[in-house]
Amino acid sequence: SIVVTGATGHLGSLVIEQLLEKVPADQITAVVRSAEKAAPLAARGVRIAVADYNTPETFDGLLAAGDRVLLISGNEFDKGRVGQHKVVLNAAKAAGVALLAYTSAPGSLTAALADDHRGTEEAILASGVPYALLRNGWYNENYTEQLAPVLEHNAVTHAAGEGRISSAARADYAAAAVAVLTGEGHENKTYELGGDAAWSLAEYAAELSRQTGKEIADNAVSPEALVGILTGAGLPGPFATILAGVDASIQKGELVIDSGDLSRLTGRPTTPIADSIAVALKG
Ligand code: NDP
Repeated sequence: SIVVTGATGHLGSLVIEQLLEKVPADQITAVVRSAEKAAPLAARGVRIAVADYNTPETFDGLLAAGDRVLLISGNEFDKGRVGQHKVVLNAAKAAGVALLAYTSAPGSLTAALADDHRGTEEAILASGVPYALLRNGWYNENYTEQLAPVLEHNAVTHAAGEGRISSAARADYAAAAVAVLTGEGHENKTYELGGDAAWSLAEYAAELSRQTGKEIADNAVSPEALVGILTGAGLPGPFATILAGVDASIQKGELVIDSGDLSRLTGRPTTPIADSIAVALKG
């Protein structure tokens, strides 16, 4: 069957939704931490398996030979994500799965945030398990789901300078994952996934101004200043530092992805940031 971890997360939910349009529900297994959170999926006939990356034995017997597995990277930054992902990798290897697809980060990204992804990729390559690396670029929603402070201060505050971002909607990345899980010939391939168009934070502020009718400023600051602003707003220091590191990478152009892999895999153009802004403003 097709097995999706993180199936109750934002990306995983979209993957399951799009898989249901292509394959019968009983051929899909959603790996979740909470059966309760997965109840709507179960109601649609999706098989539910409860497991946690932190508890290897929960993956015992969960995967079968020939399965196609999507390992969605976790979000517990303090729990050693490489070790967590290896739990799924080891289960995949023991079972003899046909494909392990992993949601990674762009190969060009040097920010600390990418370290767990590089570590996981190395473990996957060393394992001999047939893999597909889905090196996801930035989500439009990283920005459009964070509009409250922007609209409150009428400013987009960032440390990315004039750097550009090839972002796409989560649904686009989900469609790429579905294409790989349901298609052929993706074994041992690495995809650099990003939006068709790259934009700067100044352009983002201008588009927000256009759509809201308000004057929303482009407030470019230094990474050090951004850490101060974010911790002042209540973010834990280490997380603020990670985010400032990402902005420094953006300034260097590390989130510009021009491979065309994403629209090629999905067979359609990616979702422009303006469209995701419009969705977010409608609430
Ligand atoms: P979410 O935070 O919505 O989803 C994360 C998923 O991982 C959830 O389903 C969560 O389970 C699951 N998970 C976390 N820890 C564990 C664990 N210990 N055991 C089992 N499952 C676990 O993120 P998104 O769906 O938006 O993004 C998917 C991943 O992509 C993120 O986890 C992160 O690694 C990465 N990411 C990429 C971004 C990008 O722009 N490319 C931006 C942000 C994140 P549960 O539903 O039970 O909480």
